[in-house]
Amino acid sequence: MSEFFNFCAGPAMLPTPVMTKAQQEFVNWQDTGSSVMELSHRSDIYMAMAVQAEADLRELMSIPDNYKVLFCHGGGRGQFSAVPLNLLAQDKTADYIVSGSWSKAAAVEAKNFGKINVININQDTASQSSLMESQKWPLNPEAAYVHYCPNETVNGLEINTIPETNGVPLVADMSSTILSHEVDVSKFGLIYAGAQKNIGPSGLTIVIVREDLLGHAQIATPCIMNYKTAADNNSMYNTPPTYAWYLAGLVFQWLKDLGGVEAIAKINQAKAALLYQAIDDSDFYQNIIDTEYRSKMNVPFWLKEDSLNEKFLVESEAAGLTALQGHRMVGGMRASIYNAMPFEGVQALVEFMQQFEKRNR
Ligand SMILES: *Cc1c(COP(=O)(O)O)cnc(C)c1O
Repeated sequence: MSEFFNFCAGPAMLPTPVMTKAQQEFVNWQDTGSSVMELSHRSDIYMAMAVQAEADLRELMSIPDNYKVLFCHGGGRGQFSAVPLNLLAQDKTADYIVSGSWSKAAAVEAKNFGKINVININQDTASQSSLMESQKWPLNPEAAYVHYCPNETVNGLEINTIPETNGVPLVADMSSTILSHEVDVSKFGLIYAGAQKNIGPSGLTIVIVREDLLGHAQIATPCIMNYKTAADNNSMYNTPPTYAWYLAGLVFQWLKDLGGVEAIAKINQAKAALLYQAIDDSDFYQNIIDTEYRSKMNVPFWLKEDSLNEKFLVESEAAGLTALQGHRMVGGMRASIYNAMPFEGVQALVEFMQQFEKRNR
């Protein structure tokens, strides 16, 4: 088999050593004679694995003791509802920073559950796509929380510094950036992430929430979305996504063996630098995002000649570089280069892009 590199935005590629290990123990996990997915989530052996996975995530992200880590269902979009249901009292408003399509969708959903103040920070000109710097965001000091999306998966926009909210709880949708570089968790009230980009398979959602934010949910909050219920039951109020939890645990171990978040951040930095350099050095490809806000996880790029898009996709696929088609709302190409994408994958893409340019200019 020749090598394939999968640039899908999500569900995304997983580390090969993780999948190999999962395959080896697929039908007989830890000599139980069963697959991990056939075991009760309340069995001692499963619980031990679950506890270890949480401990590893806490270690990787240096999560302080006054934060709960919840293993939930419902994906990123489930949290678009759960966040206001749990944190937005009826007499309060919440600030929603809109920087791209996911943060916009979060704001639209939140409007179903309370008063939302939308703050659009896009600053686009014909030649450049940029954002308003966070010091200038017109935040409401009385808001219940400020919601933002540090990495816009579709648009390829990343906010690199943590905004100062002067005591108002900061809520971040980190679905496509969690574990890609170090963050100071203590600066956040709540962090959530669907697993299928940088953690594991789909079906699992991680919520990291400061304890003082628990216990204020709206009365109509479904029990499976109530953070306090989840926390009080160690994320096992109902059956958790057991196989996804197990695979996430394997990914956390893989990341620890690699040297942790600090080590992967260096590799991610190098991958993104190589790809943006190749785009900027060429007049055949372009990315018009302000260098300050370019995503290190999702790199959209456009061929100057639109008519070559189809050919680019067919030939890159044939070269083992899969799923490069851009999001339907944005067009062009998008290379998602999450933690599991090795440096060699980006090298292979850059080489292909340069050869394609030579053949078609
Ligand atoms: C993928 C993604 C989502 C949606 O996740 P689902 O699990 O499909 O609901 C939300 N936010 C961001 C930033 C994403 O990248």
